[in-house]
Amino acid sequence: MKIFSSSLLSAISIFLLLKGYAQDIKVSSPNKQLVVTIAVDEGRPVYAVNYNNKIMLENSPLGLTTNESNFSAGIKYIGREDTTIDKNYTQAKIKKSQLHYVANQLTCNFENAQQHKMKIVFRVSNNDIAFRYELATMGERFSCVVEKEATGYKFPAGTTTFLSPMMAPMTGFARTAPSYESGYEADAPMIGNNFRKEGFVFPGLFHIGNNGWVLLSETGVNSLYCGAHLGDCSKETGVYTVEYPNTKQNNGFGSSGAAISLPGVTPWRTITVGETLKPIVETTIPFDVVEPLYEPSRSYKFGKATWSWIVWQDASMNYADQIKYIDLAVALKWEYILIDAFWDSNIGKDKMKELIKYANSKKVDVLLWYNSNGAANDAPQGPRNKMASSVERKKEMKWLRDAGVKGLKVDFFGGDKQETMRLYEDILSDANDYGLIIDFHGATLPRGWERMYPNFVGSEAVLASEMLIFSQGVRDAEAFNATLHPFIRNAVGSMEFGGVLLNKFLTKSNQNRNKRLTTDGFQLATAILFQNAVQMFGLTPNNLTDVPAFEIDFMKTVPTTWDETLYIDGYPGKYTVIARRQGSKWYVAGANAGKEPLKLTLKLPMLSGKKLSLYNDDAAKLAYSKEVSIGSTGEYEVTIQQSGGFVLKQ
Ligand code: CA
Repeated sequence: MKIFSSSLLSAISIFLLLKGYAQDIKVSSPNKQLVVTIAVDEGRPVYAVNYNNKIMLENSPLGLTTNESNFSAGIKYIGREDTTIDKNYTQAKIKKSQLHYVANQLTCNFENAQQHKMKIVFRVSNNDIAFRYELATMGERFSCVVEKEATGYKFPAGTTTFLSPMMAPMTGFARTAPSYESGYEADAPMIGNNFRKEGFVFPGLFHIGNNGWVLLSETGVNSLYCGAHLGDCSKETGVYTVEYPNTKQNNGFGSSGAAISLPGVTPWRTITVGETLKPIVETTIPFDVVEPLYEPSRSYKFGKATWSWIVWQDASMNYADQIKYIDLAVALKWEYILIDAFWDSNIGKDKMKELIKYANSKKVDVLLWYNSNGAANDAPQGPRNKMASSVERKKEMKWLRDAGVKGLKVDFFGGDKQETMRLYEDILSDANDYGLIIDFHGATLPRGWERMYPNFVGSEAVLASEMLIFSQGVRDAEAFNATLHPFIRNAVGSMEFGGVLLNKFLTKSNQNRNKRLTTDGFQLATAILFQNAVQMFGLTPNNLTDVPAFEIDFMKTVPTTWDETLYIDGYPGKYTVIARRQGSKWYVAGANAGKEPLKLTLKLPMLSGKKLSLYNDDAAKLAYSKEVSIGSTGEYEVTIQQSGGFVLKQ
């Protein structure tokens, strides 16, 4: 039945346009399941997200405010451009090596009251949305400062959250916060008792009841912008807003917001959407929408590193103990040793040259720790003041290259300001000139950096293994935290956790205190569950003789780079099972944070009819290994002990 004539319809359209309601600005994913709808509501741009006809985000604000012009109110929609993106690329150091990104791209053109132009570009692939703002020159202005973003996320009522509070600036150890180390709360209400003044770090995971899951993050942040985070959920509007860094970060030095050249762009805001957690675990959106910023100066090598500091602590920062850890790397056939803080004062550069020569004679390469400061904090650990300025940094990196060092772990950064993003990028870019790989600690979330910077390996940005040594609460929550990472933090970026601790007590003597509460099966599983192209593992020399030989054999050969990663099963905070493939070999790993043993029937079609090695814990929580076969159905039943884990290895 035809109710309206076409001329009446177009009259309504014109009326809606004049009213500022841009009707039906939509863009869908290639498979049509994910739909973004954009509109202008009383001069304010908004968007909504549907997946399989279910609301994942209600009308949520868009726009930004610059020091020259306001793009969050008084906005008019003036048209659209559509295109498609189909891109293949390879990446050796993330969860997947051969990537194919297919998206529909919608560019919405807007104009504000001063006739200044803003585009919002949406790229919509089957389970991911990436969008960013693009600003044109404004009259004589070829530069501006983006002071504030209106971008927000309004989830349906009843949504629960998996969020990690942003740490207050200039707090914590030696005023080194924020460093993304406050941990995640699971299944919390959007508006609850825990009002978080500083908001929450990216990524944030949201459970939209029975309708699915949404993971929020950002990517493509380099020296030309600041890192952003989520504000607390507004009690009035129910919206989480994108916020820029607290001005108190970095000892108050450097601005919040971003100084950009015009025409200019913001980083990409990313939204990963699924009915299950599969698209969350498997997302590659942080890498799909960015490009390498320079060529690698050499072919970088990834792999496993011994690391004395994690269990033997500061007392091990001496020549004799580092020899023991080089010999441990030799025994394990690992590629690297990481020599941590205080090597400069306790060993010194001359003896360090000898140590590096010794390591290299045994085919072990050396990674060295550096303090990032500078003026950002009070961390006394040296070497200090070598990374914060270009002149000192290049001098130091020349020495490092000449001494045969292959990479650095740089620690204690001052926050997310553009000022600090410049420091991250400057360290990465200079390090590439001197053939050094870079791992960041006490650091922000990497935002697409694995692809943008060829010599970037990974960042901590997690409540990491060091806190297992320092805190009973963190030891109690070890299994809980581990079951979160594949679904949240590690889903969007490499995560340098520094795990696999096989000592029963997390001390050098391996007795009396700091009892480990997870099983050996659990520890082996984390080598697969946690992804970082260079893994600093927590094995100690005594482990060569005091743990079962099959555990050591497993650790000798476990890969650190992957061709494919699959979600198998799990619920963040309760249990997790994922599979990773290197070459033709699959590794399936799981961990259980529940209070009881967990029996699962895993669907592993890629392994049907195959023989594998199982590493698991028995009912007494003692690790064992045996050969198993997967039936022709591809189903496999496994029991994971409480605070336990397993690995199936092809
Ligand atoms: Ca840390």
